[in-house]
Amino acid sequence: MNNCQQILEQLQRDFPNAQSELNFNNPYELIVAVILSAQCTDKRVNQVTPKLFELAPTPQALADMPLDLLEDTIRSCGFYHNKAKHLKSMAADVVSKYGGQVPSNLADLQTLAGVGRKTANVVYAVAFGGQAIAVDTHVFRVANRLGIATATNVLDTEKQLMAVIPQDRWADSHHHILLHGRYVCKAQKPNCAGCSVSQWCRYFKEHND
Ligand code: SF4
Repeated sequence: MNNCQQILEQLQRDFPNAQSELNFNNPYELIVAVILSAQCTDKRVNQVTPKLFELAPTPQALADMPLDLLEDTIRSCGFYHNKAKHLKSMAADVVSKYGGQVPSNLADLQTLAGVGRKTANVVYAVAFGGQAIAVDTHVFRVANRLGIATATNVLDTEKQLMAVIPQDRWADSHHHILLHGRYVCKAQKPNCAGCSVSQWCRYFKEHND
C-alpha cells in the first residue's frame, strides 16, 4: 500500500461518518449554503439559512427577493454584497435554464452563474451522490502538506488528487481530508503531535528531520 492509500484508510477510520456539516434539505438549499460558506464557517451558515429559506424557499423566490433584504439576511456570513449577487445569479440561471430545478450533472452545474468549480463539485457529490473532489482551502492545504499533491493552486491539486485516488473514493476522500484540516491539520498551527497520519506526512518529515 502506498502512502496515499495508507493516509486515506487512516482518515476514513478517523472520520467514519464523514459528511457535509452544512444543513440542507434539497439540492437548492445545499447550493445556497455552499455559496454562503466561502470564507465563513459552516456553523455560521447554518445559523443564517433557516431564515433565508423561509423567505426564499425556491430558486424563483430567491431570484425575486429584493437585494437589500437578501443582503441583510446573509450579512453575518461576510462578503454579503458578492454572495448576494452570486446567489441571485445562480437562482436566475436555475429558473431560466433548468426550469427551477438545480441540475444534477457536473457540466450543467458548472454553467450556473455565481457557481465556481468547488461549489459545483460539492453539490454534485453531496446532493447527487456523484464522484468529485472539491478542493477548498482545507483540502488544498492538507493535501499539499501531506504530499499527496504537490501543487500551487486548487485546480492542479484537484487534478493530482483525481489521479492518485480511485474514482469511487473521490467524494469520501474530499470529506476526510477536509475534516482532517478543519480539526487537526489547522492552517495556523497543525496539531502534528496528535495527528494519526504524521508517519506518512511530507510536512512532518521536513519539520522533524
Ligand atoms: S503531521 Fe502535521 S502537517 Fe502533517 S497532516 Fe498531520 S497535522 Fe498536518
